[in-house]
Amino acid sequence: MSAIEREAPTRHPDVRNYIGGSFVDAPEREFLDVTDPSTGEVISRVPLSGASEVDRAVDAARAAQPAWAATPIKERAQVFYRYKALLEKNIDSLAALVSEENGKVRGEAEAEVLKSAELCEFACSLPQIVAGEVLEVSRGVECRVEHYPVGVVASITPFNFPNMVPNWTIPNALALGNCMVLKPSEQVPLSAGRIAELLREAGLPDGVLNIVHGGQQTVEAICDHPFIDAISFVGSTHVAKIVYRRGSASLKRVLALGGAKNHLIVMPDAEPEMTSTNVVASMSGCAGQRCMAASVMMAVGKTDPIIERMVRVVRAMVPGVNIGPVISKAAKERIERYITEAEEAGAKVLVDGRGCVVPGKENGFYVGPTLIDHVTPDMRIAQEEIFGPVMVIIRANDVDEALAVQQRSRYGNAASVFTESGGVARYVMEKASAGMVGVNVGVPVPREPFGFGGWNESKFGTGDITGRGSIELWTRAKKMTTKWNKEAGVNWMS
Ligand code: NAD
Repeated sequence: MSAIEREAPTRHPDVRNYIGGSFVDAPEREFLDVTDPSTGEVISRVPLSGASEVDRAVDAARAAQPAWAATPIKERAQVFYRYKALLEKNIDSLAALVSEENGKVRGEAEAEVLKSAELCEFACSLPQIVAGEVLEVSRGVECRVEHYPVGVVASITPFNFPNMVPNWTIPNALALGNCMVLKPSEQVPLSAGRIAELLREAGLPDGVLNIVHGGQQTVEAICDHPFIDAISFVGSTHVAKIVYRRGSASLKRVLALGGAKNHLIVMPDAEPEMTSTNVVASMSGCAGQRCMAASVMMAVGKTDPIIERMVRVVRAMVPGVNIGPVISKAAKERIERYITEAEEAGAKVLVDGRGCVVPGKENGFYVGPTLIDHVTPDMRIAQEEIFGPVMVIIRANDVDEALAVQQRSRYGNAASVFTESGGVARYVMEKASAGMVGVNVGVPVPREPFGFGGWNESKFGTGDITGRGSIELWTRAKKMTTKWNKEAGVNWMS
């Protein structure tokens, strides 16, 4: 935590909250440093807002809500057509900002912004998707379902996708008529401000989106706030449980997405080149800091040629060029501790990313891509989320042994199988205990219109955070029954 007064000017000014269409200073004088993970340099400071700032944001959202909810959905969607175009127009500066605060390499940052644009595409199609159902249920009596906004909602986001994860919730929740208080990760607060600016430019009325920066205290104020009706959370399982319990205790609708430990089951018949490339891309993309990153490879039977290829692919990677740093010094130390502990427990480190230093960026938080073989399912590294570019390889004799390890995980975000056999692929898809499964795909993200969400301790609550599943989260269904013609008569139901 930095001192109360700024010691030296930083690259970016202090981060400000965004309330009622204006950037405002928080009355709180407590700040955290924002760091560029590739250099270790402090680039800004973020305020740790308290309950009073959450109050202000909720007041602004409540004031904007009636007019926004009364705006026809086709008109609301127009904002997101314009916003999508602005994301595309500004992709260079948006991606640069993501790289600066999160560390990911430029191609990854650009992909993140393009994904945000795709999320808008879905929001633009919501008028077609939420068109209600209507049926004559008995003579002259008609039932229809209409979707109403929930009201004032909150979205709490993690550090790993500063642009995309806020856009998992903003376009859909707002297009469906809600007003929002966004609480970005305090580790990457800068992108959220740009999102607000672009939405304002796209014509979003003041107060529909508000941003309150901070950490635990801010989140607790959101969970307890009597006028916030729903919360979405994306982050670690530990905090997802806290938010789910605390938000539900104050009778809010909560969807809380948590951490992950994703298994890839590699069968001996898997196509070697595609498999090795995909597996490495999955574990190392965004420095392994994706909730869909593979972190356990279940190597079934004779898969050594694939593992040898993976070693070659990993060795060819250049930290600082095609793999970025992890988010913080603490994350780097934590990841390296896991590797050391596994090695001491008897695992074999095939490629070692510890002590990685990038010339010219000696203070960056780099961990090189790491492969560890002969890990056993009881080791901590096999069970806990590492959230770094580390792939552990567990040997299995057959597919059932591999599946048993996957099924015992407390998480259940994603799982994939690499095989040329349709029967084995279907078997794994059916048996894996995960919400998102893939075949010959290292990162089985369901793209729109499909919803994103895991199982077990990777998600608490019903519905999904994106796609069709999010409609249930962001709306209340009203069932309307009407009758106009008295000649239709009266029966016991009408
Ligand atoms: P985190 O849980 O530390 O933080 C997430 C949010 O919670 C932040 O906004 C933070 O300010 C807030 N927070 C932190 N501690 C809190 C506390 N004690 N009480 C209340 N609020 C608190 O997560 P992170 O480190 O920012 O992100 C990485 C995690 O997010 C990983 O576990 C990753 O798997 C997960 N993640 C999951 C998904 C998914 O779809 N399931 C997607 C992205 C990231």
